[in-house]
Amino acid sequence: ADGDHVPALVIGSGYGGAVAALRLTQAGIATHIVEMGQSWTAPGSDGKVFSSLLKPDGRSYWFRTRTDQPVGYFLGVDANKNIDRYAGVLDSEAFAHTRVYQGRGVGGGSLVNGGMAVTPKRAYFEEILPSVNADEMYGTYFPRANAALGVNSIDTSWFESTKWYKFARVGRDSAQAAGFGTTFVPNVYDFGYMKQEDAGTKPKSALAQEVIYGNNYGKRSLDKTYLAAAAATGRLTISPLHTVTGVAPAAGGGYTVEMTQIDTAGNTVARKTVTADRVFFAAGSVGTPKLLVAMKAQGRLPNLPDAVGAGWGNNGNVMVARANHVWDTTGADQSTIPAMGIDNWSDPNGPVFAEIAPFPAGTELWVSLYLAITKNPNRGTFTFNSGTGKVDLSWQSSWTQPSIDAAKRVFDKINSKAVTVYRSDMFGVNKVWGDDFVYHPLGGCVLGKATDGYGRLPGHPGLYVIDGSLVPGSTGVNPFVTITALAERNIEKIIKTDLA
Ligand code: FAD
Repeated sequence: ADGDHVPALVIGSGYGGAVAALRLTQAGIATHIVEMGQSWTAPGSDGKVFSSLLKPDGRSYWFRTRTDQPVGYFLGVDANKNIDRYAGVLDSEAFAHTRVYQGRGVGGGSLVNGGMAVTPKRAYFEEILPSVNADEMYGTYFPRANAALGVNSIDTSWFESTKWYKFARVGRDSAQAAGFGTTFVPNVYDFGYMKQEDAGTKPKSALAQEVIYGNNYGKRSLDKTYLAAAAATGRLTISPLHTVTGVAPAAGGGYTVEMTQIDTAGNTVARKTVTADRVFFAAGSVGTPKLLVAMKAQGRLPNLPDAVGAGWGNNGNVMVARANHVWDTTGADQSTIPAMGIDNWSDPNGPVFAEIAPFPAGTELWVSLYLAITKNPNRGTFTFNSGTGKVDLSWQSSWTQPSIDAAKRVFDKINSKAVTVYRSDMFGVNKVWGDDFVYHPLGGCVLGKATDGYGRLPGHPGLYVIDGSLVPGSTGVNPFVTITALAERNIEKIIKTDLA
């Protein structure tokens, strides 16, 4: 409530925020999470909490009147649909030259992501974060994160035989034929549950086209893991549909945190100010830099370093699709949960880790779809625009080219061996590369540059960054395991040294 005082306030409930909340509450510290999205627990009129890919409605998107599907076209025709404006679960946040997909709700990105839970290659982790002790990360914090997230692996014999993963087997075979290695990818979706979906003994979710607008069953999202464990301590409170708009030093010590409460139609319900002894920024690699850059520019957190807002990258994301031969079917029935990747990361001429992505349309489309993660050196910067009062991102369209070049080396070879072609009708009209959107925003408040070695913001004791904005723009694989493990490392240190 307005005027309250809390010992620890966490902005955002994604991976960084959930780790902070669990470890702080376990250490006996009453913790309050402020989350701009909804708490996704109440079913809609169809009896389900979330809508499916094929039947999107207001629940799908954060305040849009039309869907903005990542794969937005088919046969060159805009495949988007009109929907009600509502506080939905997936945000497509537009900047001048890219759009960034993010989860909105208690659980952040875990509500909408593909669940792929990948520990980065150690050599690459050491390259991107040389100041972090890799022995500790790989000995303690990656295992701790994987256990708490509930990461599991697919039963490989089921994978080889089920119709639901034919698309992945076809993708694997064409990659291997061209000389590329493939690997199974662990996930937080419960593969045991998925087998029961297949057997018809449990309600379907991954096998019913549910994923980026939320999974009604099967997925171990953060509300079922870290946040549930934090709530069980009795020391966690959460304010959903509250957006933090300002943080500044409080007169009597600590910080004032200003927020706006909305209803699900987007109307402002209340404006509140609370004070907190410590504030953890966990609003994600867009939300955190946006807030900090604005506070610095407005002189409200004047001592923040200039590196705040810099070092933002897209994890080298680029999507592409291939057209298969008519006899090489990928299946009308596809699980929404990816289970295999093409691993060409060790190629010095252009490292690529490409997830073989489903395209679950409920009908045969002969499409092989991929999300490639590449090593793109370009980095954007967030700056406050005093004219609009908003925060801009300097990312340019041409900056995605190194990702296209690297991915092209892999998929040209696959096409050449299979005698197939790229599809050019799925990311626009005559557009081969899905290069104008991001699933994996990283950086913007980089560890050791904008913060100290553990996420403390210099010049403002008691302020911490603990989310994906600490990771310097790239981690070579899907990022949430990296974000979670780094948060585990940092919060352990902070609790031991700052909160003892
Ligand atoms: P987030 O999880 O984004 O959490 C930030 C939270 O803060 C959000 O809930 C947001 O609503 C809230 N917030 C923001 N600003 C404010 C504010 N001002 N006030 C209050 N609350 C605020 N990664 C993988 O590793 N594997 C995958 O398979 C995968 N698939 C993906 C698929 C999709 C469609 C998307 C969008 C992402 C995917 N990702 C995947 C990426 C992964 O979800 C993100 O890297 C991860 O969620 C980032 O964690 P975070 O803690 O930094 O921030």
